[in-house]
This record gives sequence, structure tokens and C-alpha cells, in this order.
Amino acid sequence: MPTNPSPYQVAIIGAGAAGYFCALNLAQKLKDNGVDPELYQISIFEKAAVGLRKVRISGGGRCNVTHDEEDNLKFLKHYPRGQRQLRTPLYEFNAMDTRQWFEKRGVKLKIEKDGRIFPVTNSSQTVIDCFNKEAQRLGVTIYHKSKVEGITYLPPHFQINPTCNEEDLPKKFHYLCLATGSDPQGHKLAQDLGHSFSEFAPSLFTFKCQHPLLRNLQGTSFKNAEVKIVGRELKGLKLKESGPLLITHWGLSGPAILKISAWGARELKRANYHFPFRVNFLGMSLDETRERLLSYKKMNLKKKITTSAPLEDLTHKFWASVIEFHKLSPDLQWANLSQKEINLICESLTSLELQSTGPHRHKEEFVECGGVSSQEINFKTLQSKLIEGLYFAGELLDIDGITGGFNFQNAWSTSYNAAMDIAQKITQNQKELKI
Ligand SMILES: Cc1cc2nc3c(=O)[nH]c(=O)nc-3n(C[C@H](O)[C@H](O)[C@H](O)COP(=O)(O)OP(=O)(O)OC[C@H]3O[C@@H](n4cnc5c(N)ncnc54)[C@H](O)[C@@H]3O)c2cc1C
Repeated sequence: MPTNPSPYQVAIIGAGAAGYFCALNLAQKLKDNGVDPELYQISIFEKAAVGLRKVRISGGGRCNVTHDEEDNLKFLKHYPRGQRQLRTPLYEFNAMDTRQWFEKRGVKLKIEKDGRIFPVTNSSQTVIDCFNKEAQRLGVTIYHKSKVEGITYLPPHFQINPTCNEEDLPKKFHYLCLATGSDPQGHKLAQDLGHSFSEFAPSLFTFKCQHPLLRNLQGTSFKNAEVKIVGRELKGLKLKESGPLLITHWGLSGPAILKISAWGARELKRANYHFPFRVNFLGMSLDETRERLLSYKKMNLKKKITTSAPLEDLTHKFWASVIEFHKLSPDLQWANLSQKEINLICESLTSLELQSTGPHRHKEEFVECGGVSSQEINFKTLQSKLIEGLYFAGELLDIDGITGGFNFQNAWSTSYNAAMDIAQKITQNQKELKI
């Protein structure tokens, strides 16, 4: 062994979910492998004053860490892009592993009815505290306010120029993991290293649309609606999703819309977000809806049609809007509602045609699809096929999931695999040094 071996330096760019998880698992694995801690240093460079900003705001401040699905093949079905690429990383570290990882470190989790998994504290701070405690225990150094503006690869080292001026800053790195999320500065770093990118598009957004039937109904929700896009404008794209739906003051929102926006992200962007779509507010067929209205009519012949909503899935306010839209008198009795009028009402309830006039996004609250070209990455190790020692993890990859904890699982699985590969190499190199 050389008298004064220089430590293996690992740089992780980005202190988000993926960057932290890569650093923590790498440090833990090296410790488990018995590698002398004097031999390596793991440094995270983060441009902001604090890390884990997205973790903090995720899941409405509660952090939906993953989803309750043990079957990896079923789990993968929730990724509009990257199913094939995520397969190997997920088999190495899946939702069950995520749960065990957190529970082992004292973060108790709970599963909600829809399968989303959160800390029992209902606070993302629990996850942040856990990560920071682990970083301290394992000796991971985090440099804040350290924007990396350029990376030079001088084989076999990477040189970076972060904006911080720490004296103890390592100069050369043997391994570098880019975990910069959807930040364009991170994209530039990868591009400068020779990597190309797939097409970018917002992935989770809601639809702007107007219709007399939706007017003044913001806040009205439906438990199990169905949204369908079948448009010539979208070159035959066929998308159908069901789930809760919410009327907002700008149009429609809720999981059913968000799922469609994720699956059709690139096609909807190419159509400049102008496309027709159909909504079935009840998630029931036209025939079933008609039967239920007819049976309600039979039981309530003398009642005025506006007295109450005839179906339990409809609010009274929405039903009143349907009546008004069809220009029916509110004083009309069910007995006098014709078959033709019932048919028209059923069509509005089960197949209302709307036109999207654009996407609607809350400031930061969206996920972007698109990332480093998958052909340039080995997904067993998350290492670049172009540059040895360069790794990618998290949202920077061309992998994205629908809402429900799938995007964090991508961050955990990919960063874990990158960490295991780097750990294996450092462990191996250390053994060779000892011989
Ligand atoms: C509002 C909101 C809520 C969400 N809720 C959930 C949820 O509940 N469950 C779920 O699964 N997913 C959720 N997501 C998605 C999830 O947050 C992301 O998929 C995940 O955070 C991606 O992690 P990442 O580490 O790859 O990227 P990020 O978390 O974006 O981290 C990247 C880090 O890199 C830093 N960085 C970038 N460029 C540089 C540079 N040049 N130098 C230094 N540092 C740099 C950034 O400042 C940032 O801290 C949510 C997203 C949003 C926006």
C-alpha cells in the first residue's frame, strides 16, 4: 500500500433526492465493505443555500416517498417514459426496499387508500432530517451555494469549478454523479461532456378549458370520472384515464387529468395544448346512466327536476348547471321530462366534448419529461457509455412517472444503483492497493 494514498474523490452535483440518496448509500456501502474512511471523500455540490427543496414541497409538504406495489412489472406500468430503462435499477432497489430503508432509519411510513406512501408524521421534514442525520453520521460533505458551472474531464479525473471558495475543496474527482434534476444548468453540464438529450415537455399539468356547464362550479369534484383524448390533431393519439376530477376556475384538474398529461406529454406539447377531449363525469356507460335516470324518474314523477341530484355521484350544484345548460325549466316535474331530454342529459354527463386551450401549471409545481438520451447510459450501473466514471441519477434521466410516489422511486432506484457501482469500484481498487 502506498505510504500516502490519495483518497478517492466522489463528486455529486445536486443535493436533491437523487444526489443525497446516492451519497448516503455509497458511504454506507463503503463502510459495510470495510473500506478505510481515510481513502475516500464524498462531496455533494448544491447551488442553493439549502438542499432537498423539492422534497420539502413534495406531496403537499408531506412527501409521497413511494407507492404500495410489490410487483415490479406492475410498478413499471406507471412510467409513461423509461419503463424499460428503469427495469434493472428497480429490480435492485424497489418500493419495498425504499420502505425498509426509511423504516430502518426511524422514518415510520403509512400507506394511504390509493397506495401512496407517506411518513406517518405527514411532514417532509422527517425525510429531510433523516437524510441530514445520515449524511453527518456517514461523513458526507455538502457544499451549499456551490453552483457547478463547468466540468472538465481529464482522464481519469473530473475537474469542477463550483462557485464556493472553501479551502478544503477537493480539486480532482475520480467519480462524478450528475443529479441536477430538470435544471437547465445541469443539462448544459451533461451536454458539455458530450451527452445528448431527448425532447423536453412538461409532464404533469392541468387543462385550461371553458364550457357553460362548468361555469361557477370551481371546487366541484367527481370521484371516478373518465377523460378521453381522441383527436385527429394528435395524429390518432388515443388516451383514456380514469380517477378523481376537479373543476377549477381555469378548467379541469385532478388525477384523471394529470395522468393524461403525463402519458401524452410530448404529443400534447406538439399540438400546442390545443386539442378536443371528452369527459365522462360519472365513469359510467351511457346506457347505465340512462337506466338509472329512468328508474329515478319512475320513483319521483311528481318531484321537480331541480329538487335534488338524481345520482349520488353528482352534486346538486352541478346537476342544476346541467338542467340550465339544457335550457330546461327548473319547475319541470320528472314526469314531464321527455326521453329525448333524458338522452341529451346522459350525453352531457358521460361524453361532454371540451376543447383544451392550454396547459395550466402552478409556479414550480410540475414535472418535466425528457432527459439524457437513454442510449448513452448503461442502466445496470447508471454509468455513461461515453465517459468512464460519470454517472446519472434522478429526474435528469429520460424517465418519468405519473403522480403517486413514482418519481421519487425513480430517484431512489437510479441513485442507489449508481452508488453500488461506484462503491464496488472503490472497494476493488482499495483491495488492489493493499496487494
Ligand atoms: C411541487 C412538487 C411536488 C412533488 N411531489 C412529489 C411526490 O410527492 N412524490 C414523488 O414521487 N414525486 C414528487 N415530485 C417529483 C419529485 O420531487 C422529483 O422527481 C424529484 O425531486 C427529483 O429528484 P432529483 O434529485 O433528480 O432532482 P431535484 O430534486 O430537482 O434536485 C436537483 C438539485 O440539483 C441542484 N442543481 C441543479 N443544477 C446545479 C448545478 N449546476 N450546480 C449545483 N447544484 C445544481 C438543484 O438546485 C437541486 O437541488 C414533486 C415535484 C414537485 C415540483
